Amino acid sequence: HSKAMGRNQCSFFKEEMNARISERLILENSMRRGLAREEFYLEYQPIYALGAGRPIVGAEALLRWRHPEMGIVPPARFIPIAEDSGLILDIGEWVIREACRQSRTWTAAGLREIPVRVNLSGIQLRQKNLLDVLQRAMQDYGRKPAQIEFEVTESVLLSEVEMATGVLEALSRQGFKLAIDDFGTGYSSLSYLKRLHVDKLKVDKSFIHDISIDERGAALTRGIIGLAKSLNLRVVGEGVETAQQLAFLTANGCDEAQGFYFSVPLSAPALAEKLRDSRPS
Ligand code: C2E
Ligand code: MG
Ligand code: MG
Ligand code: MG
Repeated sequence: HSKAMGRNQCSFFKEEMNARISERLILENSMRRGLAREEFYLEYQPIYALGAGRPIVGAEALLRWRHPEMGIVPPARFIPIAEDSGLILDIGEWVIREACRQSRTWTAAGLREIPVRVNLSGIQLRQKNLLDVLQRAMQDYGRKPAQIEFEVTESVLLSEVEMATGVLEALSRQGFKLAIDDFGTGYSSLSYLKRLHVDKLKVDKSFIHDISIDERGAALTRGIIGLAKSLNLRVVGEGVETAQQLAFLTANGCDEAQGFYFSVPLSAPALAEKLRDSRPS
């Protein structure tokens, strides 16, 4: 009896596994097709300086995929699959080029210059020709390094410190500004921080959320801001949703913030409109 049940359970798991594997294969294939069919696009979330006038000082490019049947697929769902299959290299190159193209369009429209911040996958950091890809995009769209910045999640930096240190140093030598994304979630050994050529630290939104929960949550965020300051890094709060969180970040010396409290990620024209309304510092 129990043997039969074991077998049933086993085949249940197998089916489940197969279903998951085939879902991944389907997604992978439709991503490949989607790239050719221009189903990907970028949204831009404005980033605000927390000083006087609170000007927009940047825009984070966030990848979107509009699948003809599935609708909008969130990046958390397709980026891991793209990373496993290596497709992230093509997608990542597309993101870099599209961000450069959009930046040029905004410049041509006479908008105030703000850097576009592009998320890089760890797989891209390992890409041998990343610098060539970048250089080509910058050249094709007439961009200077001050107009494009990069974000890399902390977990990537931790898993391969040596490799990451080298690539970030190369990028920084080219004049690109770099941020550590989702900071605080990666169980950092803090010693690696001072060796990395980064300019900014983005406090993960889970910490920003906890500010309003209790004193310990608030203390953690205060500590991360203090750490960044002591290393001379700019600090950015992500996922700011309430006036209370914003007031806390401002009072504790956080430099910049983004989140639904200010604006959701926007289409390129909508971002341009916001930028026209926002005064430079
Ligand atoms: P991330 O880089 O940490 O981006 C911030 C995420 O928080 C975005 O989710 C953004 O829409 C969301 N967000 C912004 N404000 C708020 C808020 O006030 N509350 C909450 N709860 N969320 C907020 P999104 O767009 O779904 O992207 C998720 C992640 O996917 C990104 O996290 C990033 O790691 C990755 N990603 C997005 N675009 C790209 C890309 O072009 N390349 C790579 N490699 N990764 C990307
Ligand atoms: Mg990011
Ligand atoms: Mg982030
Ligand atoms: Mg995050």
